[in-house]
Amino acid sequence: HLLFTSSMQNLAAFKALLELPKRIVITTHVKPDADALGSSLGLAGYLLKQGHQVCVITPTDYPKFLNWMEGNDDVLIFEGNEEKSKYLVENADLIFCLDFSSLNRIGELGKMVAESDAEKVLIDHHLNPETFAKYVLWSTEAAATAELVYDLIDMLGDSDKLTKGMAEALYAGLLTDTGNFKHPSTTPHVHNIVASLMELGADVSKVSHKIYDSNSLDRMRLLGFALNERLEIIEGTNVAYFYLTLEDKKRFKYQTGDSEGLVNYGLAIEGINVSAIFIEDPDKVKISFRSFGDIPVNELSRKYFNGGGHKNAAGGATDDSLEDTIKLFRELVTKQTKELNYEV
Ligand code: 5GP
Ligand code: MN
Repeated sequence: HLLFTSSMQNLAAFKALLELPKRIVITTHVKPDADALGSSLGLAGYLLKQGHQVCVITPTDYPKFLNWMEGNDDVLIFEGNEEKSKYLVENADLIFCLDFSSLNRIGELGKMVAESDAEKVLIDHHLNPETFAKYVLWSTEAAATAELVYDLIDMLGDSDKLTKGMAEALYAGLLTDTGNFKHPSTTPHVHNIVASLMELGADVSKVSHKIYDSNSLDRMRLLGFALNERLEIIEGTNVAYFYLTLEDKKRFKYQTGDSEGLVNYGLAIEGINVSAIFIEDPDKVKISFRSFGDIPVNELSRKYFNGGGHKNAAGGATDDSLEDTIKLFRELVTKQTKELNYEV
């Protein structure tokens, strides 16, 4: 147990709480990624098997390349199911909040969660968690929320109760949040967990295939277009960025998740260590940042783009136009803001 990056202070009370069947809601952040959904479904599977009533509620929909996970068909998407979600949240005994740490990250659902009398459990690896939860398993050292979910189940003495389906959902979180085991967050503990998940039957080849090899032709064309026409390097700097307009999205029949991973191509260019993508939505511009090494893009995002995240992977959003948002970014970069601190 020495290798856990964190522990739950009131673990004994938490364990006691789970001894009787509970009505449980698990929720995660808007536009869930593989870690958000995988950690939620992995945990849901475990809790169901322990005899609890469990519902995973996501604030919004999520990419199709995640819809293979065990339990996917029972996920309730809040948008479009507001009344049912409200009922479940209001009547829950326990609400797990996974892969986010401030309730405004889950939109309208956050207010309902805040108002519910249910005990809250926070499991997360983002900076600066809010203190709304009674039970907390939180570590910024953890590579993925899936890692913390595995650790928690292990701390409860139940890791041998995980099934192949649960193991694959958790593996998906570890695979993607470590950037395919490339990021510095990839510790021996991560690989130990992966080994355990494989021993539980996880088909890691299948998971990679489902996540990475199920692109629509439109998405591949969008990738080619973005690399050709929508990638800029800010001259004299180590910074690259992409942008996609509403028009671009329409042209390539953009679906949720189609721009996932695009921002990483900026970092793949020799000499570039900060990459961003600006995606025009009808009501906002959604931004992702990535960096290599000691450049805290979460600070940049928090200060100037209403966002946050991890040192090397952050996101944010603005109400400004796409043009103005990019202009601000370019100004910050050319002014060499402390947060970007790149070497020319
Ligand atoms: P992505 O760029 O993949 O959407 O997100 C990268 C990281 O930044 C994730 O850990 C995510 O939680 C965080 N992040 C993305 N968008 C936002 C945002 O609007 N606000 C905050 N606080 N964090 C974000
Ligand atoms: Mn995560």
